[in-house]
Amino acid sequence: MSEVTTRCIGYRFRAYPDDSQRKRLEHWQSAQRALWNAGHAQRQERLSRPGWDIKRSKRYLSAYDQHAELTECRREYEWLRAVPQMFQQDLLTQLSIAWQRFFKKNSGKPRFKRRSTGEDAPLGVAAKDCRIINRNCISLPKLGKLVMRGHRRLRGKPVRVSLTREVDQWFVSITCEVQHESSAEPSGVPVGLDFGVANVIADSLGSLVINPREYDRQRRRIARAQRVVARRKRGRGQRPSKNYAKAQKRVAKLHRTVCRRRMDLLHKLTHHYAKSHGVLVIEDLKVSAMSSSARGTKESPGRRVRAKSGLNRSILGVGWYELRRQLTYKCAWYGSQLVVVDPKYTSQQCPRCHRVCADNRPSQAQFLCVDCGYERHADVAGAMNILARGLGLTGASPETACGGLADVGRPLRQEEMRVSALESSPVL
Ligand SMILES: [Zn+2]
Repeated sequence: MSEVTTRCIGYRFRAYPDDSQRKRLEHWQSAQRALWNAGHAQRQERLSRPGWDIKRSKRYLSAYDQHAELTECRREYEWLRAVPQMFQQDLLTQLSIAWQRFFKKNSGKPRFKRRSTGEDAPLGVAAKDCRIINRNCISLPKLGKLVMRGHRRLRGKPVRVSLTREVDQWFVSITCEVQHESSAEPSGVPVGLDFGVANVIADSLGSLVINPREYDRQRRRIARAQRVVARRKRGRGQRPSKNYAKAQKRVAKLHRTVCRRRMDLLHKLTHHYAKSHGVLVIEDLKVSAMSSSARGTKESPGRRVRAKSGLNRSILGVGWYELRRQLTYKCAWYGSQLVVVDPKYTSQQCPRCHRVCADNRPSQAQFLCVDCGYERHADVAGAMNILARGLGLTGASPETACGGLADVGRPLRQEEMRVSALESSPVL
C-alpha cells in the first residue's frame, strides 16, 4: 500500500549578485543579525523574569507578538527600514521555530549570532513574494533580478526562498513542497552499517569506505593561514583592516573546502545506501558523549588529553551524526527502513557463534574468534552484528534495542522538519 505525504525538498543554487546587490545583501545581513540578536534577547529576558514558568503559564512570546513590535520599531530606526519587512518577518518566524524546537527538545538553544565567527542570521522570504523568472533568474523584493545557476529543475510548489553566504559566494535556496508517494515494499537486501574512524562506513556485505580524512589533509595549510592571521594587525575600527580580512578569508575558504568535500562524500554514500537497500541497520551512537573532552577539571586534570582530543577530532571529522541525519530522511524518501540498534559489544561479538570476548580483536582491523576461529575484517564483522541485531536474529531483540523495527516511525517524523534545514548547510 502506498501513501501520499507532503514533503519539503531544498534546492540550492549558486547566485551571482552584481556589485550593488552584493553590497546591499551584506548590509541586510548585518541588519538581520542585529534583529535576530534583539529578538533573541527579548525572548531570553521574558524567560528569566521572576515568577515566570514555562510549564505553568501557557503564553510565551509568539512570532506575531514580535511582528507587531517590529512595525513600531521600523518607524523609529532607519537601519531597520533599509531591509524589506518580509525578510524581517521571516527572520522572526525562524527565530520562533528555533525556540519551539528547543522547547520540544529537538535541538539546542538558539544562540546569538556573531559577526566575528561568520554566523549569519536567516535572510529569507516567502516564495510568494519572489518571482522565479526562469531557471537562471529569480526576482527578489527590493533586490531585483538575481542571476543564479539553476542546475536542477524544481519539483513541487516553492514555499520559501532564502539567501546564504559561504565566505565570498552567495547561494539561493528554494524550499519546495512536494506530494511524495512512498513505494509499497522496500526492495534490495538488508544491510548493516558500521560507522568508524579508519573506515567511514563498513557494510555487512563486506565493502569498506576508507576515511579520506579531509581535515588532516588540510591541517597544515589551515595552521599556516591561521598564523598569518595572528601576525596581522586587526585595525582600529569596528571592521577589521583589509589585509586582516584577506588573511581571515583564506582560513575560512580552507574550512569551506574541507566541509564541502566531507558533505559530498556523505551525500553520495547515504544516497547509495538508502536507494539500494530495503532495510538499513545502524548503531545508536552517542556522538557528543563519545567525543567529550578528557580535559577534566583544574583540581583533577584528565589523562591523555591530547590523544583523546585527537580521537575526538577524528570522530567529529567523519560526521556520524550527519550520516544518520541524512540516512533518516533519505530512507523516508526512497521507502526503505532505517533501524537503529544498541551498539553494545557489536565490535567484540562473533557473527557466527555470537561469543562476546575482548580477545576476539587481535588488532584494530582484524576480527578473529577465540572460539570458532571465524576471521573477518573487524569493521565488517561489526556491521554483520549490527544487521543481525536489527533483524532480531541474535540475543538482543529489536525491542530492547533503541528504536527497533516497531519504532522506526518516530525518528523519521522528527527528521522531516530538518529536511528544510538543508538550505542552511553548516560551514565550519
Ligand atoms: Zn565465533
